[in-house]
Formats: sequence, C-alpha cells, structure tokens
Amino acid sequence: MKALQYRTIGAAPEVVTVPDPEPGPGQVLLKVTAAGVCHSDIAVMSWPAESFPYPLPLTLGHEGVGTVAALGAGVSGLGEGDAVAVYGPWGCGICAKCAEGKENYCLRADELGIRPPGLGAPGSMAEYLLVDDPRHLVPLDGLDPVAAVPLTDAGLTPYHAIKRALPRLLPGSTAVVIGTGGLGHVAIQLLRAMTAARVIALDVSEDKLALARQVGAHETVLSDADAAAKVRELTAGVGAQAVFDFVGAEPTVRTAGAVAAVEGDISIVGIGGGALPVGFGALPFEVSVSAPYWGSRGELIEVLDLARAGAVSVHTETYSLDEAPLAYERLHAGKVNGRAVILP
Ligand code: NAD
Ligand code: ZN
Ligand code: ZN
Repeated sequence: MKALQYRTIGAAPEVVTVPDPEPGPGQVLLKVTAAGVCHSDIAVMSWPAESFPYPLPLTLGHEGVGTVAALGAGVSGLGEGDAVAVYGPWGCGICAKCAEGKENYCLRADELGIRPPGLGAPGSMAEYLLVDDPRHLVPLDGLDPVAAVPLTDAGLTPYHAIKRALPRLLPGSTAVVIGTGGLGHVAIQLLRAMTAARVIALDVSEDKLALARQVGAHETVLSDADAAAKVRELTAGVGAQAVFDFVGAEPTVRTAGAVAAVEGDISIVGIGGGALPVGFGALPFEVSVSAPYWGSRGELIEVLDLARAGAVSVHTETYSLDEAPLAYERLHAGKVNGRAVILP
C-alpha cells in the first residue's frame, strides 16, 4: 500500500510503498477514508536526531477515520464496512487513568512502549491503518469522514481544554483564543456551542481572523505587541476568564498571561516552546495555568455528538495521498485556513 512516511531527519515526508498490514489477534484493520494534517507533525519533523523519540521510518497521521476492512482473531462488536473514527492517544487500557477513559494520560504507555498512530506507531496517512484495540474506535454514525477526521484531535484537544475551564466561562465572561488555525477555529465553535462567553480571537494572519469571525468569534485582534492592551480594552480592563493558547510560543504565552483575569484559567495547548512564569505577582491573583494534552475517549464521543447536532463544522481543504507533502508545505507556510485533510 501507499503511505506517507517521515524517513530521514530534517527531510520532507515521502510517499512510499510499504507492505499491507494484517490484523493480529485483538486488532482491527481500517481502510483509511480520511487523515488530518496537524501542526504537531511539523514540530516532530523539526526535532534533532539526538532526541528523536520514535523509530524511523514513521508513517504520519494521528487523525484518522476509516471503514473496518478486517478483524483480528477474537474481535467482536464491529463488522466489516463499519465507519469509525480513531481515538488516537492510545494507552494500556488498564491503569487508573485509562480506567477513566483518559488514555491520553496513561500511566504506563511509556514503560510499555505504547505510542499513538502517527506519533510512534504507523499512522493514518496510508491506505490502511492497523488499530491495536477496538476500544480505540468510535462509530461515525453518519458523520462525513472529511468533516469528522479533524475532530479526533483539532476538535478533541480544544474540547478537553474548554471543558476544564467551563466553571469560569459563565455568562458575561470572556474567552480568548490565540491562534485560530486547525485547533483554534474549532475551539471558537466549541466555545460558542458550550458557553455564553464572549470570544476574542487572536492571530497573526488576517485570513485566519476572517475565518475566526466566520465561525463565531465576537471580536478579532491582530496578535502583536499591542494585542494584550486591546483585549484589556475590549473587556473594560477585566481581562479574560479563560485563555486558550494554540501557539504556545514565547510571545503568545506572554500575551496569555497579560490578558488573564483575576482567578482566570490559562490553557497552553500549542507546543511552541514558550514558558510562562508563575509565582506570586507574576500573574493576576489566583490564575491557573495548565498544559493539557489531547482528550479522553468519552470526550471524543461528546465532540462527535456535538458535530452530529450541527454545532461544529470544520473548515477543510483536501489532498490526495500523493499531494500530502504539499499539504505539509502549505501548513508550514501558514497557508492552510482551517484543517488540511488527506484522502488516501
Ligand atoms: P495551525 O498551523 O493550523 O494553527 C496555528 C495558528 O496559529 C495559525 O493560524 C497561525 O497563523 C497562528 N499563529 C502563529 N503564530 C502566532 C502568534 N504569534 N500569535 C497568534 N497566532 C499565531 O496549527 P494546529 O494544527 O492548529 O496546532 C496548533 C498548536 O497546537 C501546535 O503547536 C500543535 O503542535 C499544538 N497541538 C497540541 C496538542 C496538545 O494535545 N497539546 C494537540 C494538537 C496540536
Ligand atoms: Zn495533533
Ligand atoms: Zn493506561
């Protein structure tokens, strides 16, 4: 089968031919119908050889949906042709966090060498994807594959961050979304569907800000040195009760700290390497800062339910598997508005 692989440190990913996978006992083989392109892959492909954590070559793609092509021995409850989304943050399924459905925070994944597809295990940017366990599949139940695939990360990750902050997002509150790309433009829609908060979106690109307004942001602000002052002005000096930073670089975490309200909540989701100093006087009183990772299996089910109810619609552009390297180039150049989706 064809697969998009990251093969050489520092080089662009390549479309290659690899053997068709076959499901072993307990596994499920999917025919991939859509795979999402995440900015985290660009971070992965920038890591140096010394600290590169995964075996190469690596088939990319940690957002995947497909139809069941074959079942390994002992798998029941699924039938050939069933349309499913892949819950990506695979864990052991047994530890205390996995027992809560929070396989994203599995206590034993590292020790057991369990890696998400596309982030260590072979990913979804291929004609077929081997899924280690049927519990990592959620029925699409009528959702369109292209519209649904970004929800497995670009939907689930913001959903988890927003859910944590819900007690702060009362009527009259403000939520700030920094970086309105793949994750951010879904975050705006989730905030509108889940809260009565006023949503202020920040980005460096006017095109991204236009999309932010289109998907429900009440206000947009160019993300520059004056951005924090503008957000303060828009909130009569109070600031935002919740801030979601989908960039996570030094300037954006600084903005996040500068726009947070007293008792506000800052979620640093982007992996841009910025660090926000905390400590008495460093931030407004009682601000909480967290760096969440992906979400739980139950939350993926909730996000798909929201999409089925029409509350979230991902802005997508599609590419064939042969065009996948181009999708990464465009994402790297900031040219993808919404989410790029590969159709293997
Ligand atoms: P994306 O490229 O689609 O979106 C990033 C957006 O940020 C773009 O619109 C870009 O214009 C904007 N941006 C860049 N610099 C900015 C700045 N200084 N101020 C404001 N906006 C700026 O990327 P994505 O796929 O949505 O991923 C967003 C981030 O989240 C990445 O760092 C990614 O690695 C990370 N991520 C984290 C998790 C997690 O679990 N924590 C999950 C998925 C992605
Ligand atoms: Zn991702
Ligand atoms: Zn576990």
